[in-house]
Amino acid sequence: MNHPSILQALKGVQLRIAKAAHAACRAPESICLIAVSKHFSVNAIREAYAAGCQHFGENYAQEFKAKVMHLRHDDITWHFIGALQSNKTRIVAEHAQWVHTIDRFSIAKRLSEQRADTLPHLNVCIQVNISAEPQKHGCFITDLLPLAKEIMALPNIRLRGLMCVPNQNLSCTALNEQFALLRHLYQQVSEAGILVDVLSMGMSHDLENAIAEGATHIRIGTAIFGQRRKQNKSKITN
Ligand SMILES: *Cc1c(COP(=O)(O)O)cnc(C)c1O
Repeated sequence: MNHPSILQALKGVQLRIAKAAHAACRAPESICLIAVSKHFSVNAIREAYAAGCQHFGENYAQEFKAKVMHLRHDDITWHFIGALQSNKTRIVAEHAQWVHTIDRFSIAKRLSEQRADTLPHLNVCIQVNISAEPQKHGCFITDLLPLAKEIMALPNIRLRGLMCVPNQNLSCTALNEQFALLRHLYQQVSEAGILVDVLSMGMSHDLENAIAEGATHIRIGTAIFGQRRKQNKSKITN
């Protein structure tokens, strides 16, 4: 591993969260830190877990499945944060507690159907394409309210809020505008009578901006685990 220790890195992130929360007059405990472990090994997850992380985020269904199996005895809350194809929904419906990347009804419906009645609701967020670029994931802003209402009617999943991934390399002002836009949309959803309590936004390089705009869940990979390199499967489940 090319960075000193996950524990040290995590402490650094926790300090950044505390400072950003303080600056925004918010309680640091009101912000859930999701450790994004994609491309990192089961051992790295164990190390982060031992250091105090309880929420983990994964992007790829197959990798997620392998890790869940290895770590099934640990009290981990799994957040699926990757693009989800319809042929990969089952593993997520059966093993995740959260999905942050719903952008169409068909996926939400499958997740609800595949979620066992005996399990608690699957918590979901709608990913919004706030920059409205056609090649980006997320639902368009104009589709948000109708989609939220449709999801509300599904029995085994529970709509919790909104999620976004801003463009890379935005100026600080433009970044703040995108986070502010998601918060504004969140308020609109809420005013439409849909109960939401989650704003999933903020990554390693912009968590301060996101917390200033009201993020309740931040998704942090690099700042905890170091730079990602593509890994093969055997390495991941070491
Ligand atoms: C990879 C990923 C993250 C973590 O990004 P870092 O910049 O490494 O903190 C957060 N959210 C999503 C959706 C991701 O795919």
